[in-house]
Amino acid sequence: MEKFEIAVVGGGLAGFIAALALARAGRSVALIAPDPEKSDFRTTALMDQSVRFMERLGLWERVSPDAAGLATMQIIDGTERLIRAPIAKFRSSDIGIPAFGYNFVNATLLAALADAVAAEPNITRFTSAAETVSPQTDAVRLTLGDGKEIEAAFVVGADGRRSKVRDAAGITIRTWAYPQTALVLNFAHTIPHENTSTEFHTETGPFTQVPLPGDRSSLVWVVRPEQAEALLALSPDALSTRVEARMQSMLGKVTVEPGVQAWPLSSLVANHFGKGRIALIGEAAHAFPPIGAQGLNLSLRDIIALVDLLGTVPERSIPGDAGDRFDRRRRADVWSRTYSVDLLNRSLLSAFLPVQMVRAAGLHLLSAVSPLRNMLMREGVEPGRGFRALPSILKDVVLRR
Ligand SMILES: Cc1cc2nc3c(=O)[nH]c(=O)nc-3n(C[C@H](O)[C@H](O)[C@H](O)COP(=O)(O)OP(=O)(O)OC[C@H]3O[C@@H](n4cnc5c(N)ncnc54)[C@H](O)[C@@H]3O)c2cc1C
Repeated sequence: MEKFEIAVVGGGLAGFIAALALARAGRSVALIAPDPEKSDFRTTALMDQSVRFMERLGLWERVSPDAAGLATMQIIDGTERLIRAPIAKFRSSDIGIPAFGYNFVNATLLAALADAVAAEPNITRFTSAAETVSPQTDAVRLTLGDGKEIEAAFVVGADGRRSKVRDAAGITIRTWAYPQTALVLNFAHTIPHENTSTEFHTETGPFTQVPLPGDRSSLVWVVRPEQAEALLALSPDALSTRVEARMQSMLGKVTVEPGVQAWPLSSLVANHFGKGRIALIGEAAHAFPPIGAQGLNLSLRDIIALVDLLGTVPERSIPGDAGDRFDRRRRADVWSRTYSVDLLNRSLLSAFLPVQMVRAAGLHLLSAVSPLRNMLMREGVEPGRGFRALPSILKDVVLRR
């Protein structure tokens, strides 16, 4: 039986990045990552802190030609409701950085990660799925689909929403569905985007355009499941016209590219993020609707915490309660993100007038009070950074009055 210090189960973005980061921190890593069943046409917006982490892993050179900077982000209330919010605009230059983050093509990221993993001497990749995961006192045993058996002192579950690793650890989840499907596509346009991302809030959810290099953008359009089916059945020309109309032609004529995908939306949060010799990261631990580009950014913070916990321990042997320590460290961040995204999503779906008023008032406050807007922007690029500045911001607001 082959033995490793750490086994990472799952070859999505979270699993690949975790394996690479832990191997670079000096651990021997087994990455159990079968090839994906379907192509991923999505793009992922990563914020400043996550981009710096990708740079440290040496991935920037390879993935940046396919990425576009996000210098301005605006939220437009696209609802037909009685109470509507003003446009909220956020510029990275207001907080002294060239871009809040970058929009990456998932397929490019995955290919770059697969190459980096193949070149990393501390990683052994297995392309069969994990069939059984059995925690023991001093290690965790895994059997793979091809009959191989391996043992690891610690297991990272990055095996997505239906995580076997999570079940093996006896960790339960809370999960809830939304009457929403995300339509994901890329499109070309005739007016340059000037590195601006626009999120329209609509009665069915957000409609978010994010820049790609050149005169191209990606789109995540959240609609009711039956609307998604109807949109998927349209010809490319008819779909392009619908996208252009929804964007009020702000990027000129739209041409939708082949490769439109639909992702049903739900939220999931594990009741614990680790236990004993197991930790859960990425969608095995938390998943929610794509609002404000939170999912993978949160997963990268899981990975930063893991490396902190497992990569820098002075003793080589991994303590038997490392999973519980990881759980304690990740609770506040994961729960606050999960429930704030859920609240924002529900506030869009709600036809209840007081809820609309609160959402509109919140956006109004952000457009009108620049110190608050700056704090939110800092918080967006690096959680904790904005709130650390809160006392001086409050002082500033009081002094201005
Ligand atoms: C429409 C949409 C748009 C999004 N946009 C953004 C964005 O702009 N910014 C952002 O930060 N996040 C975004 N997200 C979230 C982001 O895509 C995910 O957080 C990210 O892909 C991480 O997923 P993951 O690796 O945890 O899970 P997955 O991608 O689900 O990967 C899990 C992997 O585990 C494998 N697996 C499962 N079982 C086993 C087993 N037994 N053995 C071995 N392997 C196994 C699966 O085959 C799969 O490859 C978006 C999500 C959606 C749905």
